[in-house]
Amino acid sequence: MLAGERINADQAKHLYTHASLDELQTLATAVKTRYHQPTCATYLVMAIVNYTNVCIANCDFCAFFRFPHQAGGYLLSTAQLCAKIESFIDLDVDLIAFNGGFNPKLKIGNYEQLFAELHTRYGHRLTFFAMTVAEFMFACKISKLSYLQGAKILRAAGVKWITGGGAEVLVDSFRQRHSKGKYSVADYYDAQQAILAASISSTATMVIGFDETLAERIGHLERLREFQDQQDIPMPSFLCWTYKPENNRLGGYEITTAEYLRWLAICRIYLDNFKHIRTSVLTKNADALRGLAFGADDFDIPLADEVTEMAGATIEADYQRILTHARQLGLQPTLRSAFANMPKSTFA
Ligand code: SF4
Repeated sequence: MLAGERINADQAKHLYTHASLDELQTLATAVKTRYHQPTCATYLVMAIVNYTNVCIANCDFCAFFRFPHQAGGYLLSTAQLCAKIESFIDLDVDLIAFNGGFNPKLKIGNYEQLFAELHTRYGHRLTFFAMTVAEFMFACKISKLSYLQGAKILRAAGVKWITGGGAEVLVDSFRQRHSKGKYSVADYYDAQQAILAASISSTATMVIGFDETLAERIGHLERLREFQDQQDIPMPSFLCWTYKPENNRLGGYEITTAEYLRWLAICRIYLDNFKHIRTSVLTKNADALRGLAFGADDFDIPLADEVTEMAGATIEADYQRILTHARQLGLQPTLRSAFANMPKSTFA
């Protein structure tokens, strides 16, 4: 493996179950150094703007959504969104990621109009992650558009990124247990393929710590590596974060940092066709920085995200403390420009 050969699913299972933390660290660092210096630690300051919490998908792990007509549901106007964006510009944010729900009022045309306007107003200053693959799929379905048609419309409106969010654990057994109303795995990859075909960049994501089995986690990686192998232009990054168990129907507990680091190392080792592996400050705060010694090379510092905060995440208000902590670990965090390699070879 240190010589560069791939591991298979059985080997991933064996490593996860039996390897020591030190062994996983060594192997993950070996794969990281195929792409980066071992101490590589780039970061970006970003904010997640939650434009609506209305959703009909009804995932049991979600603390964020409200059904249509349920008290507490909201849909922000363009003016409200612009006010939020401008407040984040004042905080020197480089990237805004939009995340909402499966809101039956929002068709592709609504997103087209919104992103054309935001692109005109702020495109010179900010990078936008317009939506997640999951939201995109729903908007295409209710607009009666194919995924390719929907993606082309958004690309023409200036959308450059639709990120892989909403993936959680991409195996159908998990989806049936927790998220029947969202999509099937084959459908998800069809949508992501259409997004890439329309020259919109995308990313890969995963969330762990629900009740998924090790076989389901590895199934997620297997299908993802296969999908990535098929791309002419590979997706630039993979991000794994952790489930937060508060205020939802599923409940449970949050996995330890040690478990997160073990899994992050397996992701780095298994996903040898991803250049960038990102560690999750959003859900692990400063502990996530330890992931930079377990194969990760990058992290976002989020300033806001209602979805994870409602499920129990605590966002560090002073992001300099995260950077100070990284330096205390012997790292030299380097700001990465969201614009540096646009549109295709940068990462999100
Ligand atoms: S996770 Fe997303 S799709 Fe599922 S219920 Fe929550 S907002 Fe809706």
